[in-house]
Amino acid sequence: MTTRASTAYDAIVIGAGHNSLVTAGYLSKSGLRTLVVERRERVGGIADTTELAPGARVPTLMHTVGRLRPSVVRDLDLKRHGLTLLAPEVRVFAPSPDGTALILYGDPARTAEGLHGRSEKDAAAYPDFDRRVRVLSRFLAALGDETPPDIVSPGFGDALLGLRLGRAFRGLGRLDARTILRVLPMAVADFVAESFETDALQAAIAWRGVRFASLGPWSGGSAAVLLGDSAGNDGGAAGETVYARGGPGALAEALAAAARTLGAEVRTSADVIAVTTADGRATGVALASGEEIAAPMVVSGADPKRTLLDLVDPVTLGPSMRWRAGNIRQPGVVAKVNLVLSGVPRFPAANGDERLLRGRILVAPGIDPIERAFDASKYGRPSETPVLEATIPSLADPTLVSGAPEGTQVMSVIAQYAPYRLRDGDWDASREALGDRVMAVLESVAPGISSLVAARQVLTPLDLERDFGLTGGHPLHAEPALDSFFLWRPLLGYARYRLPVEGLYLCGSGAHPGGGISGWPGQNAAREILADAKKRRRQGSEQPHRDGW
Ligand SMILES: Cc1cc2nc3c(=O)[nH]c(=O)nc-3n(C[C@H](O)[C@H](O)[C@H](O)COP(=O)(O)OP(=O)(O)OC[C@H]3O[C@@H](n4cnc5c(N)ncnc54)[C@H](O)[C@@H]3O)c2cc1C
Repeated sequence: MTTRASTAYDAIVIGAGHNSLVTAGYLSKSGLRTLVVERRERVGGIADTTELAPGARVPTLMHTVGRLRPSVVRDLDLKRHGLTLLAPEVRVFAPSPDGTALILYGDPARTAEGLHGRSEKDAAAYPDFDRRVRVLSRFLAALGDETPPDIVSPGFGDALLGLRLGRAFRGLGRLDARTILRVLPMAVADFVAESFETDALQAAIAWRGVRFASLGPWSGGSAAVLLGDSAGNDGGAAGETVYARGGPGALAEALAAAARTLGAEVRTSADVIAVTTADGRATGVALASGEEIAAPMVVSGADPKRTLLDLVDPVTLGPSMRWRAGNIRQPGVVAKVNLVLSGVPRFPAANGDERLLRGRILVAPGIDPIERAFDASKYGRPSETPVLEATIPSLADPTLVSGAPEGTQVMSVIAQYAPYRLRDGDWDASREALGDRVMAVLESVAPGISSLVAARQVLTPLDLERDFGLTGGHPLHAEPALDSFFLWRPLLGYARYRLPVEGLYLCGSGAHPGGGISGWPGQNAAREILADAKKRRRQGSEQPHRDGW
Protein backbone atom coordinates (compact mmCIF):
# COMPACT_ATOMS: atom_id res chain seq x y z
CA MET A 1 0.00 0.00 0.00
CA THR A 2 1.36 3.45 -0.81
CA THR A 3 0.59 6.50 1.26
CA ARG A 4 -0.33 10.18 1.06
CA ALA A 5 0.96 12.24 3.95
CA SER A 6 -1.79 13.98 5.93
CA THR A 7 0.32 14.97 8.92
CA ALA A 8 4.02 14.91 9.50
CA TYR A 9 5.22 12.97 12.54
CA ASP A 10 8.65 11.56 13.21
CA ALA A 11 7.18 8.41 14.73
CA ILE A 12 3.81 6.72 15.01
CA VAL A 13 3.33 4.27 17.85
CA ILE A 14 0.63 1.64 17.32
CA GLY A 15 -1.33 0.88 20.49
CA ALA A 16 -1.43 2.66 23.83
CA GLY A 17 -0.49 -0.27 26.04
CA HIS A 18 1.88 0.65 28.83
CA ASN A 19 4.96 -0.23 26.75
CA SER A 20 3.80 1.92 23.82
CA LEU A 21 3.24 4.84 26.17
CA VAL A 22 6.70 4.36 27.66
CA THR A 23 8.25 4.39 24.18
CA ALA A 24 6.20 7.44 23.19
CA GLY A 25 7.30 9.21 26.37
CA TYR A 26 10.99 8.63 25.69
CA LEU A 27 10.72 9.53 22.00
CA SER A 28 8.89 12.75 22.83
CA LYS A 29 11.33 13.57 25.58
CA SER A 30 14.08 13.41 22.98
CA GLY A 31 12.25 15.74 20.65
CA LEU A 32 10.61 13.37 18.18
CA ARG A 33 7.12 14.37 17.10
CA THR A 34 5.26 11.28 18.20
CA LEU A 35 1.71 10.12 17.62
CA VAL A 36 0.15 7.20 19.52
CA VAL A 37 -2.85 5.50 17.90
CA GLU A 38 -4.93 3.11 20.00
CA ARG A 39 -7.84 1.04 18.72
CA ARG A 40 -9.66 0.90 22.06
CA GLU A 41 -11.56 3.87 23.43
CA ARG A 42 -9.08 4.34 26.26
CA VAL A 43 -5.36 4.02 26.85
CA GLY A 44 -3.58 1.25 28.77
CA GLY A 45 -4.23 -1.99 26.85
CA ILE A 46 -4.05 -4.72 29.48
CA ALA A 47 -3.41 -2.07 32.14
CA ASP A 48 -7.09 -1.24 32.47
CA THR A 49 -9.72 -0.62 35.14
CA THR A 50 -13.44 -1.43 34.75
CA GLU A 51 -16.36 -0.06 36.71
CA LEU A 52 -18.10 -3.37 37.27
CA ALA A 53 -20.86 -2.02 39.51
CA PRO A 54 -21.73 1.60 40.36
CA GLY A 55 -18.75 3.06 42.24
CA ALA A 56 -16.78 -0.23 42.25
CA ARG A 57 -13.74 -0.37 39.98
CA VAL A 58 -11.79 -3.55 39.39
CA PRO A 59 -8.53 -4.29 37.54
CA THR A 60 -9.94 -5.57 34.24
CA LEU A 61 -6.97 -7.88 33.57
CA MET A 62 -3.61 -7.32 35.28
CA HIS A 63 -3.56 -6.36 38.95
CA THR A 64 0.00 -5.81 40.19
CA VAL A 65 2.61 -3.38 38.91
CA GLY A 66 5.65 -4.22 41.04
CA ARG A 67 7.80 -5.05 38.01
CA LEU A 68 7.58 -1.49 36.67
CA ARG A 69 11.11 -0.19 36.09
CA PRO A 70 12.05 2.45 38.66
CA SER A 71 13.97 4.23 35.89
CA VAL A 72 10.74 4.54 33.85
CA VAL A 73 8.94 6.03 36.85
CA ARG A 74 11.79 8.48 37.31
CA ASP A 75 12.54 9.39 33.69
CA LEU A 76 8.90 10.03 32.83
CA ASP A 77 8.16 11.68 36.16
CA LEU A 78 5.18 9.40 36.68
CA LYS A 79 4.64 10.36 40.31
CA ARG A 80 4.09 13.96 39.25
CA HIS A 81 1.58 12.65 36.72
CA GLY A 82 -0.46 10.94 39.40
CA LEU A 83 1.11 7.52 39.89
CA THR A 84 1.08 6.30 43.50
CA LEU A 85 2.34 2.82 44.28
CA LEU A 86 0.99 0.80 47.21
CA ALA A 87 2.98 -2.14 48.54
CA PRO A 88 1.26 -4.28 51.19
CA GLU A 89 3.52 -6.12 53.65
CA VAL A 90 2.19 -9.53 52.66
CA ARG A 91 3.28 -10.59 49.19
CA VAL A 92 1.47 -13.94 49.04
CA PHE A 93 -1.23 -15.56 51.14
CA ALA A 94 -1.70 -19.16 50.01
CA PRO A 95 -4.63 -20.77 51.84
CA SER A 96 -5.38 -24.49 51.73
CA PRO A 97 -8.79 -26.10 52.05
CA ASP A 98 -7.56 -27.64 55.35
CA GLY A 99 -7.63 -24.16 56.90
CA THR A 100 -3.87 -23.57 56.99
CA ALA A 101 -2.02 -20.96 54.98
CA LEU A 102 1.43 -20.19 53.81
CA ILE A 103 2.48 -16.56 53.96
CA LEU A 104 5.31 -15.00 51.98
CA TYR A 105 6.66 -11.57 52.85
CA GLY A 106 9.21 -9.44 51.03
CA ASP A 107 11.48 -9.93 54.02
CA PRO A 108 12.86 -13.49 53.77
CA ALA A 109 13.60 -13.70 57.51
CA ARG A 110 9.95 -12.99 58.29
CA THR A 111 8.81 -15.62 55.81
CA ALA A 112 11.24 -18.15 57.28
CA GLU A 113 9.93 -17.43 60.76
CA GLY A 114 6.45 -18.46 59.66
CA LEU A 115 7.75 -21.66 58.08
CA HIS A 116 9.06 -23.07 61.38
CA GLY A 117 5.71 -24.60 62.24
CA ARG A 118 5.64 -26.51 58.93
CA SER A 119 9.18 -27.64 58.33
CA GLU A 120 12.41 -26.76 60.09
CA LYS A 121 14.27 -27.73 56.93
CA ASP A 122 12.27 -25.30 54.78
CA ALA A 123 12.56 -22.53 57.33
CA ALA A 124 16.34 -22.95 57.36
CA ALA A 125 16.58 -23.16 53.56
CA TYR A 126 14.32 -20.20 52.68
CA PRO A 127 16.74 -17.26 53.22
CA ASP A 128 19.42 -18.92 51.12
CA PHE A 129 16.95 -19.78 48.37
CA ASP A 130 15.69 -16.19 48.39
CA ARG A 131 19.27 -14.93 48.11
CA ARG A 132 19.95 -17.29 45.20
CA VAL A 133 16.85 -16.13 43.32
CA ARG A 134 17.84 -12.50 43.81
CA VAL A 135 21.45 -13.06 42.69
CA LEU A 136 20.57 -15.17 39.63
CA SER A 137 17.81 -12.73 38.68
CA ARG A 138 20.30 -9.89 38.82
CA PHE A 139 22.10 -11.47 35.88
CA LEU A 140 18.82 -11.72 33.96
CA ALA A 141 18.19 -8.06 34.79
CA ALA A 142 21.57 -7.23 33.24
CA LEU A 143 20.43 -9.09 30.09
CA GLY A 144 17.10 -7.26 30.23
CA ASP A 145 18.82 -3.88 30.12
CA GLU A 146 20.62 -4.74 26.90
CA THR A 147 19.59 -4.85 23.30
CA PRO A 148 20.40 -8.37 22.07
CA PRO A 149 23.48 -8.45 19.81
CA ASP A 150 23.42 -8.05 16.06
CA ILE A 151 23.92 -11.57 14.72
CA VAL A 152 23.99 -10.53 11.08
CA SER A 153 26.74 -7.93 11.15
CA PRO A 154 28.16 -7.66 14.66
CA GLY A 155 30.07 -4.49 15.31
CA PHE A 156 32.02 -2.73 18.01
CA GLY A 157 28.87 -2.18 20.10
CA ASP A 158 28.21 -5.90 20.12
CA ALA A 159 31.75 -6.56 21.32
CA LEU A 160 31.18 -4.09 24.16
CA LEU A 161 27.90 -5.80 24.95
CA GLY A 162 29.77 -9.12 25.19
CA LEU A 163 32.17 -7.53 27.64
CA ARG A 164 29.38 -6.07 29.77
CA LEU A 165 27.53 -9.37 29.90
CA GLY A 166 30.77 -11.23 30.61
CA ARG A 167 31.37 -8.88 33.52
CA ALA A 168 27.82 -9.41 34.84
CA PHE A 169 28.28 -13.16 34.53
CA ARG A 170 31.61 -13.11 36.34
CA GLY A 171 29.98 -10.94 39.00
CA LEU A 172 27.84 -13.92 39.93
CA GLY A 173 30.88 -15.64 41.36
CA ARG A 174 31.96 -19.16 40.45
CA LEU A 175 29.21 -21.03 42.25
CA ASP A 176 26.27 -18.88 41.15
CA ALA A 177 27.65 -18.69 37.60
CA ARG A 178 27.56 -22.47 37.38
CA THR A 179 24.17 -22.54 39.06
CA ILE A 180 22.53 -20.20 36.57
CA LEU A 181 23.68 -22.26 33.60
CA ARG A 182 22.32 -25.36 35.27
CA VAL A 183 19.07 -23.82 36.46
CA LEU A 184 17.78 -21.89 33.41
CA PRO A 185 16.68 -24.95 31.42
CA MET A 186 15.29 -26.72 34.50
CA ALA A 187 11.69 -27.48 35.41
CA VAL A 188 10.73 -25.12 38.21
CA ALA A 189 9.33 -28.09 40.18
CA ASP A 190 12.82 -29.60 40.32
CA PHE A 191 14.40 -26.25 41.14
CA VAL A 192 12.22 -25.61 44.19
CA ALA A 193 12.42 -29.26 45.31
CA GLU A 194 16.19 -28.88 45.65
CA SER A 195 15.57 -26.57 48.61
CA PHE A 196 12.13 -27.33 50.04
CA GLU A 197 10.19 -30.39 51.15
CA THR A 198 6.76 -28.80 51.75
CA ASP A 199 4.55 -29.18 48.68
CA ALA A 200 2.54 -26.01 49.42
CA LEU A 201 5.71 -23.92 49.62
CA GLN A 202 7.13 -25.46 46.46
CA ALA A 203 3.88 -24.63 44.65
CA ALA A 204 3.64 -21.08 45.98
CA ILE A 205 7.09 -20.29 44.60
CA ALA A 206 6.89 -22.41 41.44
CA TRP A 207 3.64 -20.68 40.38
CA ARG A 208 5.58 -17.70 39.05
CA GLY A 209 7.51 -20.06 36.79
CA VAL A 210 4.31 -20.96 34.94
CA ARG A 211 2.07 -17.90 35.41
CA PHE A 212 0.73 -16.62 32.06
CA ALA A 213 2.59 -19.41 30.22
CA SER A 214 1.50 -22.62 28.57
CA LEU A 215 3.88 -24.45 30.88
CA GLY A 216 3.40 -26.71 33.86
CA PRO A 217 5.82 -26.88 36.79
CA TRP A 218 7.38 -29.99 35.24
CA SER A 219 8.02 -28.21 31.91
CA GLY A 220 11.64 -27.55 31.00
CA GLY A 221 12.63 -23.87 31.15
CA SER A 222 10.00 -22.90 33.74
CA ALA A 223 12.77 -22.12 36.26
CA ALA A 224 13.98 -19.40 33.85
CA VAL A 225 10.48 -17.88 33.86
CA LEU A 226 10.54 -17.71 37.67
CA LEU A 227 13.95 -16.01 37.65
CA GLY A 228 12.85 -13.65 34.88
CA ASP A 229 9.87 -12.62 36.98
CA SER A 230 12.24 -11.60 39.76
CA ALA A 231 14.61 -9.70 37.45
CA GLY A 232 14.84 -5.97 37.87
CA ASN A 233 12.57 -5.70 40.89
CA ASP A 234 12.48 -6.55 44.55
CA GLY A 235 10.74 -9.86 43.85
CA GLY A 236 13.04 -12.46 45.34
CA ALA A 237 11.46 -15.83 46.08
CA ALA A 238 8.13 -14.29 47.08
CA GLY A 239 7.66 -12.18 43.95
CA GLU A 240 6.33 -8.66 43.97
CA THR A 241 2.91 -7.37 45.00
CA VAL A 242 2.45 -3.68 44.32
CA TYR A 243 -0.71 -1.84 43.23
CA ALA A 244 -1.22 1.41 41.40
CA ARG A 245 -3.63 3.51 43.47
CA GLY A 246 -6.85 3.89 41.52
CA GLY A 247 -6.26 0.64 39.62
CA PRO A 248 -4.11 -0.32 36.63
CA GLY A 249 -5.87 2.32 34.50
CA ALA A 250 -4.31 4.96 36.76
CA LEU A 251 -0.86 3.78 35.67
CA ALA A 252 -1.93 4.07 32.04
CA GLU A 253 -3.33 7.56 32.65
CA ALA A 254 -0.08 8.65 34.32
CA LEU A 255 1.95 7.31 31.38
CA ALA A 256 -0.32 9.01 28.85
CA ALA A 257 -0.20 12.28 30.78
CA ALA A 258 3.60 12.09 30.90
CA ALA A 259 3.84 11.38 27.17
CA ARG A 260 1.45 14.23 26.35
CA THR A 261 3.33 16.65 28.59
CA LEU A 262 6.50 15.71 26.77
CA GLY A 263 4.82 16.52 23.45
CA ALA A 264 3.23 13.28 22.24
CA GLU A 265 -0.22 13.18 20.73
CA VAL A 266 -2.35 10.26 21.90
CA ARG A 267 -5.43 9.27 19.90
CA THR A 268 -7.89 6.58 20.99
CA SER A 269 -10.55 4.79 18.90
CA ALA A 270 -7.97 4.76 16.10
CA ASP A 271 -7.68 1.22 14.76
CA VAL A 272 -4.62 0.66 12.60
CA ILE A 273 -5.39 -1.73 9.75
CA ALA A 274 -2.07 -1.49 7.93
CA VAL A 275 1.47 -0.28 8.16
CA THR A 276 1.93 1.56 4.88
CA THR A 277 5.14 0.98 2.97
CA ALA A 278 6.97 2.21 -0.10
CA ASP A 279 9.95 0.40 -1.60
CA GLY A 280 9.98 -2.02 1.33
CA ARG A 281 10.16 0.76 3.90
CA ALA A 282 7.52 1.80 6.46
CA THR A 283 5.93 5.12 5.58
CA GLY A 284 3.11 5.38 8.12
CA VAL A 285 -0.17 3.75 9.06
CA ALA A 286 -3.65 3.37 7.61
CA LEU A 287 -6.60 3.54 9.99
CA ALA A 288 -9.90 1.67 9.74
CA SER A 289 -11.57 5.09 9.26
CA GLY A 290 -9.73 5.41 5.93
CA GLU A 291 -7.30 8.01 7.20
CA GLU A 292 -3.63 7.56 6.39
CA ILE A 293 -0.93 9.11 8.52
CA ALA A 294 2.67 9.40 7.42
CA ALA A 295 5.82 9.03 9.48
CA PRO A 296 9.28 7.68 8.68
CA MET A 297 9.23 5.45 11.75
CA VAL A 298 6.39 3.17 12.85
CA VAL A 299 6.60 1.45 16.21
CA SER A 300 4.23 -1.37 17.08
CA GLY A 301 3.14 -2.08 20.63
CA ALA A 302 0.77 -4.76 19.33
CA ASP A 303 1.93 -8.37 19.54
CA PRO A 304 4.49 -9.48 16.94
CA LYS A 305 2.24 -11.94 15.14
CA ARG A 306 -0.54 -9.38 14.75
CA THR A 307 1.97 -6.75 13.67
CA LEU A 308 3.66 -8.86 11.02
CA LEU A 309 0.75 -10.94 9.74
CA ASP A 310 -2.18 -8.52 10.00
CA LEU A 311 -0.62 -5.11 9.53
CA VAL A 312 2.23 -5.62 7.05
CA ASP A 313 1.53 -6.24 3.38
CA PRO A 314 2.32 -9.96 2.70
CA VAL A 315 4.25 -9.11 -0.44
CA THR A 316 6.47 -6.69 1.45
CA LEU A 317 7.02 -9.21 4.25
CA GLY A 318 7.70 -12.15 1.94
CA PRO A 319 6.64 -15.79 2.35
CA SER A 320 9.46 -17.07 4.55
CA MET A 321 9.12 -14.23 7.03
CA ARG A 322 5.35 -14.76 7.10
CA TRP A 323 5.96 -18.43 7.84
CA ARG A 324 8.35 -17.56 10.66
CA ALA A 325 5.98 -14.96 12.12
CA GLY A 326 3.13 -17.45 11.90
CA ASN A 327 5.12 -19.81 14.11
CA ILE A 328 5.58 -17.37 17.00
CA ARG A 329 4.00 -19.29 19.86
CA GLN A 330 1.06 -17.59 21.57
CA PRO A 331 -0.97 -20.34 23.24
CA GLY A 332 -3.08 -18.34 25.70
CA VAL A 333 -4.16 -20.28 28.80
CA VAL A 334 -5.29 -17.46 31.07
CA ALA A 335 -8.81 -16.30 31.91
CA LYS A 336 -9.94 -13.58 34.25
CA VAL A 337 -12.81 -13.41 36.70
CA ASN A 338 -13.67 -10.09 38.32
CA LEU A 339 -15.99 -9.80 41.28
CA VAL A 340 -17.72 -7.07 43.22
CA LEU A 341 -18.32 -8.36 46.74
CA SER A 342 -20.67 -6.98 49.37
CA GLY A 343 -18.02 -7.56 52.05
CA VAL A 344 -14.63 -9.06 52.79
CA PRO A 345 -14.71 -12.81 52.13
CA ARG A 346 -13.95 -15.03 55.11
CA PHE A 347 -10.85 -17.17 54.66
CA PRO A 348 -10.66 -19.48 57.70
CA ALA A 349 -6.87 -19.66 57.17
CA ALA A 350 -6.61 -15.88 57.67
CA ASN A 351 -8.19 -16.09 61.12
CA GLY A 352 -9.98 -12.79 60.59
CA ASP A 353 -6.76 -10.89 59.87
CA GLU A 354 -7.64 -8.76 56.82
CA ARG A 355 -4.04 -7.62 56.42
CA LEU A 356 -3.17 -11.10 55.16
CA LEU A 357 -5.59 -10.63 52.27
CA ARG A 358 -3.89 -7.51 50.90
CA GLY A 359 -1.26 -9.36 48.88
CA ARG A 360 -1.73 -11.97 46.16
CA ILE A 361 -4.03 -14.77 47.29
CA LEU A 362 -2.78 -17.91 45.66
CA VAL A 363 -4.87 -21.07 45.38
CA ALA A 364 -2.34 -23.57 44.08
CA PRO A 365 -2.30 -26.34 46.67
CA GLY A 366 0.70 -28.29 45.37
CA ILE A 367 2.96 -28.98 42.43
CA ASP A 368 0.88 -31.88 41.13
CA PRO A 369 -2.43 -29.97 41.27
CA ILE A 370 -0.82 -27.22 39.12
CA GLU A 371 0.53 -29.80 36.70
CA ARG A 372 -2.85 -31.53 36.49
CA ALA A 373 -4.55 -28.18 35.83
CA PHE A 374 -2.02 -27.65 33.02
CA ASP A 375 -2.62 -31.17 31.65
CA ALA A 376 -6.25 -30.34 30.92
CA SER A 377 -5.23 -27.36 28.78
CA LYS A 378 -2.80 -29.49 26.76
CA TYR A 379 -5.79 -31.48 25.56
CA GLY A 380 -7.95 -28.44 24.84
CA ARG A 381 -9.99 -28.51 28.04
CA PRO A 382 -10.27 -25.84 30.73
CA SER A 383 -9.06 -27.15 34.05
CA GLU A 384 -11.77 -28.42 36.41
CA THR A 385 -9.85 -26.90 39.32
CA PRO A 386 -7.95 -23.95 37.87
CA VAL A 387 -5.01 -22.41 39.69
CA LEU A 388 -6.05 -18.99 40.96
CA GLU A 389 -4.08 -15.86 41.73
CA ALA A 390 -6.51 -13.39 43.28
CA THR A 391 -6.21 -9.97 44.80
CA ILE A 392 -8.64 -7.82 46.77
CA PRO A 393 -6.99 -4.51 45.83
CA SER A 394 -9.71 -2.44 47.51
CA LEU A 395 -8.36 -3.56 50.90
CA ALA A 396 -5.11 -1.72 50.17
CA ASP A 397 -6.74 0.96 48.02
CA PRO A 398 -10.24 1.95 49.21
CA THR A 399 -10.49 4.56 46.40
CA LEU A 400 -11.51 1.66 44.14
CA VAL A 401 -14.81 1.36 45.98
CA SER A 402 -15.23 4.93 47.20
CA GLY A 403 -18.50 5.36 45.28
CA ALA A 404 -19.96 1.97 46.21
CA PRO A 405 -22.13 0.96 49.19
CA GLU A 406 -20.30 0.72 52.51
CA GLY A 407 -18.32 -2.52 52.88
CA THR A 408 -18.02 -3.23 49.15
CA GLN A 409 -14.79 -4.89 47.97
CA VAL A 410 -13.51 -5.81 44.51
CA MET A 411 -11.71 -9.04 43.75
CA SER A 412 -9.52 -9.71 40.72
CA VAL A 413 -8.91 -13.40 39.90
CA ILE A 414 -6.43 -14.70 37.33
CA ALA A 415 -7.48 -18.25 36.43
CA GLN A 416 -5.16 -20.69 34.74
CA TYR A 417 -5.41 -23.01 32.78
CA ALA A 418 -8.06 -22.13 30.22
CA PRO A 419 -6.83 -22.87 26.70
CA TYR A 420 -7.59 -20.44 23.87
CA ARG A 421 -8.54 -23.35 21.60
CA LEU A 422 -11.21 -25.54 23.11
CA ARG A 423 -11.42 -29.08 21.92
CA ASP A 424 -15.18 -29.21 22.48
CA GLY A 425 -17.52 -26.24 22.25
CA ASP A 426 -16.58 -22.60 22.16
CA TRP A 427 -15.79 -19.95 24.70
CA ASP A 428 -18.95 -17.91 24.17
CA ALA A 429 -20.94 -20.93 25.33
CA SER A 430 -18.47 -21.96 28.07
CA ARG A 431 -17.76 -18.59 29.66
CA GLU A 432 -20.08 -18.81 32.67
CA ALA A 433 -19.19 -22.46 33.33
CA LEU A 434 -15.59 -21.32 33.74
CA GLY A 435 -16.76 -18.59 36.13
CA ASP A 436 -18.60 -21.24 38.15
CA ARG A 437 -15.48 -23.43 38.36
CA VAL A 438 -13.46 -20.47 39.61
CA MET A 439 -16.11 -19.77 42.25
CA ALA A 440 -16.01 -23.44 43.34
CA VAL A 441 -12.24 -23.22 43.87
CA LEU A 442 -12.67 -19.97 45.81
CA GLU A 443 -15.40 -21.59 47.94
CA SER A 444 -12.92 -24.31 48.94
CA VAL A 445 -10.75 -21.73 50.73
CA ALA A 446 -13.29 -18.98 51.45
CA PRO A 447 -16.61 -20.71 52.20
CA GLY A 448 -19.58 -18.46 51.59
CA ILE A 449 -17.83 -16.14 49.14
CA SER A 450 -20.45 -16.83 46.45
CA SER A 451 -23.16 -15.30 48.60
CA LEU A 452 -21.21 -12.01 48.66
CA VAL A 453 -21.03 -11.66 44.86
CA ALA A 454 -22.84 -8.53 43.71
CA ALA A 455 -21.39 -8.55 40.17
CA ARG A 456 -19.25 -10.96 38.17
CA GLN A 457 -17.33 -10.63 34.93
CA VAL A 458 -15.67 -13.58 33.17
CA LEU A 459 -13.10 -12.89 30.45
CA THR A 460 -11.90 -15.86 28.42
CA PRO A 461 -8.77 -16.08 26.24
CA LEU A 462 -11.06 -15.37 23.28
CA ASP A 463 -12.20 -12.14 24.95
CA LEU A 464 -8.54 -11.22 25.47
CA GLU A 465 -8.03 -11.57 21.74
CA ARG A 466 -11.25 -9.83 20.65
CA ASP A 467 -11.30 -6.99 23.16
CA PHE A 468 -7.61 -6.43 23.83
CA GLY A 469 -6.05 -7.45 20.51
CA LEU A 470 -3.99 -10.28 22.03
CA THR A 471 -3.40 -12.92 19.36
CA GLY A 472 -4.21 -16.36 20.79
CA GLY A 473 -5.28 -14.57 23.98
CA HIS A 474 -1.67 -14.59 25.16
CA PRO A 475 -1.10 -12.22 28.12
CA LEU A 476 2.59 -11.71 27.29
CA HIS A 477 2.27 -11.34 23.46
CA ALA A 478 4.43 -14.49 23.08
CA GLU A 479 5.44 -17.40 25.31
CA PRO A 480 8.12 -16.56 27.88
CA ALA A 481 9.90 -19.89 27.23
CA LEU A 482 13.59 -20.30 26.39
CA ASP A 483 12.86 -20.59 22.65
CA SER A 484 11.58 -17.01 22.70
CA PHE A 485 14.14 -15.57 25.06
CA PHE A 486 16.69 -12.76 24.40
CA LEU A 487 18.06 -13.31 20.85
CA TRP A 488 14.94 -15.28 19.95
CA ARG A 489 12.32 -12.73 21.05
CA PRO A 490 10.29 -12.37 18.91
CA LEU A 491 12.42 -14.00 16.17
CA LEU A 492 16.10 -14.74 15.72
CA GLY A 493 17.61 -11.88 13.74
CA TYR A 494 14.86 -9.41 14.80
CA ALA A 495 15.41 -9.17 18.55
CA ARG A 496 16.89 -5.66 18.31
CA TYR A 497 13.42 -4.02 18.18
CA ARG A 498 13.78 -3.59 14.39
CA LEU A 499 11.33 -5.73 12.44
CA PRO A 500 11.99 -7.05 8.93
CA VAL A 501 10.54 -3.93 7.28
CA GLU A 502 12.88 -0.96 7.44
CA GLY A 503 11.56 1.75 9.72
CA LEU A 504 9.21 -0.66 11.55
CA TYR A 505 9.93 -1.42 15.21
CA LEU A 506 8.44 -3.55 18.01
CA CYS A 507 8.14 -2.07 21.52
CA GLY A 508 5.62 -4.32 23.32
CA SER A 509 5.81 -7.44 25.45
CA GLY A 510 6.62 -9.60 22.43
CA ALA A 511 10.05 -7.95 22.35
CA HIS A 512 12.99 -8.60 24.69
CA PRO A 513 12.90 -8.85 27.71
CA GLY A 514 9.24 -9.80 27.52
CA GLY A 515 5.94 -9.31 29.29
CA GLY A 516 4.61 -8.08 32.57
CA ILE A 517 4.09 -4.50 33.63
CA SER A 518 7.70 -3.38 33.43
CA GLY A 519 7.97 -0.87 30.59
CA TRP A 520 11.24 -2.63 29.84
CA PRO A 521 10.76 -3.48 26.13
CA GLY A 522 9.27 -0.03 25.61
CA GLN A 523 12.28 1.61 27.21
CA ASN A 524 14.82 -0.48 25.28
CA ALA A 525 12.98 -0.01 21.98
CA ALA A 526 13.00 3.77 22.44
CA ARG A 527 16.79 3.67 22.86
CA GLU A 528 17.22 1.85 19.53
CA ILE A 529 14.70 4.03 17.69
CA LEU A 530 16.43 7.17 18.93
CA ALA A 531 19.79 5.78 17.81
CA ASP A 532 18.37 5.21 14.30
CA ALA A 533 16.77 8.64 14.27
CA LYS A 534 20.11 10.19 15.15
CA LYS A 535 21.79 8.21 12.40
CA ARG A 536 19.26 9.41 9.85
CA ARG A 537 19.64 12.94 11.07
CA ARG A 538 23.40 12.69 10.57
CA GLN A 539 22.80 11.37 7.09
CA GLY A 540 20.61 14.43 6.52
CA SER A 541 17.49 12.50 5.57
CA GLU A 542 15.36 13.90 8.39
CA GLN A 543 15.18 17.16 10.25
CA PRO A 544 14.18 16.89 13.88
CA HIS A 545 11.29 19.00 15.07
CA ARG A 546 12.94 20.04 18.29
CA ASP A 547 16.47 19.89 19.54
CA GLY A 548 17.53 17.31 22.07
CA TRP A 549 18.62 14.19 20.18
C1 LIG B 1 -5.36 -11.52 32.70
C2 LIG B 1 -3.99 -10.90 32.76
C3 LIG B 1 -3.44 -10.61 34.00
C4 LIG B 1 -2.16 -10.09 34.07
N1 LIG B 1 -1.67 -9.76 35.31
C5 LIG B 1 -0.47 -9.15 35.40
C6 LIG B 1 -0.03 -8.65 36.65
O1 LIG B 1 -0.75 -8.70 37.63
N2 LIG B 1 1.21 -8.08 36.69
C7 LIG B 1 2.00 -7.97 35.58
O2 LIG B 1 3.12 -7.44 35.69
N3 LIG B 1 1.59 -8.42 34.38
C8 LIG B 1 0.36 -8.98 34.26
N4 LIG B 1 -0.09 -9.39 33.04
C9 LIG B 1 0.78 -9.24 31.87
C10 LIG B 1 0.90 -7.78 31.46
O3 LIG B 1 -0.29 -7.12 31.74
C11 LIG B 1 1.25 -7.63 29.98
O4 LIG B 1 2.44 -8.33 29.71
C12 LIG B 1 1.44 -6.17 29.61
O5 LIG B 1 0.37 -5.39 30.07
C13 LIG B 1 1.53 -5.98 28.14
O6 LIG B 1 1.70 -4.60 27.91
P1 LIG B 1 2.03 -4.06 26.47
O7 LIG B 1 2.07 -2.58 26.52
O8 LIG B 1 3.23 -4.75 25.94
O9 LIG B 1 0.81 -4.56 25.57
P2 LIG B 1 -0.76 -4.40 25.70
O10 LIG B 1 -1.16 -3.99 27.04
O11 LIG B 1 -1.34 -5.65 25.13
O12 LIG B 1 -1.07 -3.19 24.72
C14 LIG B 1 -1.13 -3.32 23.31
C15 LIG B 1 -2.07 -2.26 22.83
O13 LIG B 1 -2.08 -2.25 21.40
C16 LIG B 1 -3.40 -2.02 20.99
N5 LIG B 1 -3.53 -2.48 19.62
C17 LIG B 1 -3.40 -3.75 19.15
N6 LIG B 1 -3.60 -3.77 17.82
C18 LIG B 1 -3.83 -2.49 17.45
C19 LIG B 1 -4.13 -1.88 16.20
N7 LIG B 1 -4.22 -2.60 15.08
N8 LIG B 1 -4.34 -0.53 16.16
C20 LIG B 1 -4.25 0.21 17.29
N9 LIG B 1 -4.00 -0.33 18.51
C21 LIG B 1 -3.79 -1.66 18.58
C22 LIG B 1 -4.23 -2.83 21.97
O14 LIG B 1 -5.58 -2.41 21.98
C23 LIG B 1 -3.51 -2.50 23.27
O15 LIG B 1 -4.00 -1.34 23.86
C24 LIG B 1 -1.40 -9.87 32.91
C25 LIG B 1 -1.95 -10.14 31.66
C26 LIG B 1 -3.26 -10.64 31.59
C27 LIG B 1 -3.88 -10.90 30.24
